[in-house]
Parts: sequence; C-alpha cells; structure tokens
Amino acid sequence: MIQHHPGDELLLPLAAGRLGGGQALVVSAHLEGCAECRVRLHTLQALGGVLLEQSEPMTLHGDAWERTLQCIAAPAAVPSAPAVPTPRPVLPAGVPWPFSLRACAVSGWHWMGPGMRYARIVLPYDPAARLFLLSIGAGRSLPRHTHGGVELTQVLCGAFDDGRAVFATGDFDAADETVHHQPVVRAGETCVCLAYVGARMRFDGRIASAIAASIGM
Ligand SMILES: [Zn+2]
Repeated sequence: MIQHHPGDELLLPLAAGRLGGGQALVVSAHLEGCAECRVRLHTLQALGGVLLEQSEPMTLHGDAWERTLQCIAAPAAVPSAPAVPTPRPVLPAGVPWPFSLRACAVSGWHWMGPGMRYARIVLPYDPAARLFLLSIGAGRSLPRHTHGGVELTQVLCGAFDDGRAVFATGDFDAADETVHHQPVVRAGETCVCLAYVGARMRFDGRIASAIAASIGM
C-alpha cells in the first residue's frame, strides 16, 4: 500500500514536459507502480489539453507547416543510449528493474560505507543529473544530513524511517534544505532506493562528507 506520492508541484511540470530529466526519471519510476498517480497525471495532461484548446489562436510563421514536415522527415539527432555495462547492479530477488532506467547507463555496486552501496546512473539526455541507486542494509542508517537542493527518492524495496515518516516499497519522498534527517532502514530487509540529488548533500560528519564528495553525491 503506497502512502507517499509526488505532489502536483512535480506532476504538473511532468505533464507539461517541463520537469528536468533527473527528477522526471524518479517520478516516472514511481508512476510505474502507482495507479493513483498515473490517473492524476492523465487528469493534469487532459487539463493542459483543454487549456491549450481554449487559448487564443495565434498566427504562425508562413513556413511553419513546411518546417513541421521537415522535422517529421528528419528528426533532430537524439543522443544514442549508452551501452548498459554488464553486469548492472543486481537488485534483491523479486525486485523488478525500473522501466524508467531502460535508456540509462548504470554502474555496478560500489562501497559507500559499512552495509551501504551505491550505483551511479547516467541519463543519456541529461548526463550531469545526479542519479543513484542506493542499497542500505537492514538496520543500517545513512549518516545524518540535509540538502543543498531538492532530493527525490523512490523506494524500490525495503523501508526506512527518517523521523518524519516510514517510507516503504513504492513510496516516494521529496526533501530539500528544510529537511535535516537520518534515514534508518527497517530491520529484516535491505532497502534499495532510486535517488535524484539536485545539489550536493550536506552531511553532519566529516567522513560522510568526504565519501559523499568523492562520489559526487
Ligand atoms: Zn503515487
């Protein structure tokens, strides 16, 4: 049962095609498993269509039709998806690989701390976006930190409690510089999350800060 969903401040720009690539990827991973948010997104897209239909008509450039046909005939070059290195990080048994990662290059698992691993995700059309898979062992906790900007998290399996709420499989979390937290993973199951970090995370401890800086988190 999903308890935490992305808000309209994310679904609205996604519906309008204006959400940044990194954020859109994490929200899309949530939509894959959340029928409620898919319905909400479709409603917002329909609303956008109605607003478009009701907007004042504008005169187009004389060659607009011709240029449109040219674009269809010869679409702009889209960066080709990088080859996915094998083996990509193995997820716990029974956890599906998010469809939203299909075009991404994903590294293998790397050590981040005792019981903690990360994999770097590179989006072909937004390679600078800080995207990670995080695997935190049962009962382990991420060092206490706050954020330099928005941090989006989609829980792929397991659960963590950061003092604000419990986020379990399928849940989505958005945090920013106003949130100072220490996610603690529930006992009994590894927690794997897909995370977007808008700006560098700010860890309280020096060692955690150094490790985070070395992996660009
Ligand atoms: Zn949802």
